[in-house]
Amino acid sequence: MSEAELHVMQARMRGGVLSKARRGELQVPLPVGFLYDAQSQVMLDPDQQVQQSIRFLFESFRRLGSAGAVVKAFRNTKLLFPHRPRGGPQDGELIWVKLGITQTLFVLHNPRYAGAFVFGRTRTRRTLAGARQHKVPQEEWHTLLRGAHPGYISWEEYQENERRLQENAHALGPDRRKSPPREGPALLQGLVICGICGERMKVIYHVRSGIRVPDYLCDGRTVDDPQPVCQWISGAQVDSVVGQLLLEIMTPFAIEVSLAVQQELQARLEEVDRLRKEQVERARYEADLARHRYMRVDPDHRLVADTLETDWNRKLRALQEAQHGYEQQRQKDRVTIDEELRTRLHTLTNDFPRLWHDPNTPDRERKRLVRLLVEDVTLIKREQLLIHVRFHGGATKTVHLPFPRRVTVTPQAVVSEVDRLLDEHSYEAIARMLNERGFVSGYGKQFGGRMIARITIEYSLKSRFDRLRERGMMTLNEMAQRLGISTTHVKIWRAAGLLRAHLCNDKNEYLYEDPRPNPPRKARGVRLSKRLPGIENVPYCPTEVQCEA
Ligand SMILES: [Zn+2]
Repeated sequence: MSEAELHVMQARMRGGVLSKARRGELQVPLPVGFLYDAQSQVMLDPDQQVQQSIRFLFESFRRLGSAGAVVKAFRNTKLLFPHRPRGGPQDGELIWVKLGITQTLFVLHNPRYAGAFVFGRTRTRRTLAGARQHKVPQEEWHTLLRGAHPGYISWEEYQENERRLQENAHALGPDRRKSPPREGPALLQGLVICGICGERMKVIYHVRSGIRVPDYLCDGRTVDDPQPVCQWISGAQVDSVVGQLLLEIMTPFAIEVSLAVQQELQARLEEVDRLRKEQVERARYEADLARHRYMRVDPDHRLVADTLETDWNRKLRALQEAQHGYEQQRQKDRVTIDEELRTRLHTLTNDFPRLWHDPNTPDRERKRLVRLLVEDVTLIKREQLLIHVRFHGGATKTVHLPFPRRVTVTPQAVVSEVDRLLDEHSYEAIARMLNERGFVSGYGKQFGGRMIARITIEYSLKSRFDRLRERGMMTLNEMAQRLGISTTHVKIWRAAGLLRAHLCNDKNEYLYEDPRPNPPRKARGVRLSKRLPGIENVPYCPTEVQCEA
């Protein structure tokens, strides 16, 4: 069979699969809980235990709201989950396994449990690195037939579950957004960004003379990429500066000025809109022209006709894009200031200072007011304290403050001891050692890991991280690159003693010794416990302590 024939056949077969899918008749492997009956119709697994397990999973999610909690619920009640392996000696058999998070998410995300037939939820993209599957948004699924067969939940519940899972992913994901206002007086909670590393800063409170005082703290980056504690900034001063700033901008005069600017901008936008509209008209004209050209060509003139058709298609696409872009931009620009908004703004400016100064206004409300106006606040503590406030809509304001010196009362003996111990120990470990040896802080308190971190910054001691880096230690990512393995593998090898590492903070993150000249290598089929570090990995400074934990 020639290459061309083969190609045509493949295309036909694919076409057949797709049209079957479109009608919902395509037989695909079913998730656990469903079977095909004799007429090839999808039915619920007649095994009542299978059905109940699946119903229990959905019920738990309804109640608990997170996939992780569902897994825990199964573990706590010692319940197993049905599974039918595909391929292998047990192909298609029903076995019972411990429910894991992957399986839970698979069930929750799978629309078949809501009785829907779907096809084309993933797409394979071929790249230089090989084929990669990626998920397609719901609007782009090839086929979605609701109510195609019996299910375990309704379509509405499925959609609701998707929404909740998405929310959970946002809340836990690396790019988590600012957090909603909580109790506690720190005005800028969830809005502060560290100007040194770009992470969001945390709020921690300490009690001084019976009052909760906030501090803004950046204790380094996310897991897997350890960084030293960047900044520790006393919160009270920052809060009062930002509060003052808000009171200044919320005056009737300031609002009047910004309204005038807005109107000026609006006039200019109309001009730009006219230009954009002309662009769309031009694209439409060109598409029409291409259509005419195609219509006029002799259909027997295949090559020419094909070229013209391609050209017409391209022009149509360009027109569609232009139209879409125009509509989108127009939506974005449509912020007209009407009389009603103007009056509302004026009342707000009068109410704002009153609300702000009222001692009965709860902290949470004051924080809400800040969020109405402020997008985020960036802090940098160097010779001066720099407070950079970004308002909604893009306006910014920067305030420089003299360095907020705190009265530091830590005994000198403690400071030098911390300095000495930092070479070999983490903050948490140092605190423990000082407490055991009877040292107390300037306020007569026991030490904790965070206090040691603060002493390190306030007395300008070199951080644990910097000390280890100076000794040539590598981060997790660097080590993974150096050995050509994944970061997970590096961690496994560290735990197995193949790599020597040192705790660099209290988040269980390590920095790694360079394993030259004989780095460990992948050895398929050899147990880790059999691969003694001495054989493959000669430590280059043998007097060092092994990893402290
Ligand atoms: Zn930082």
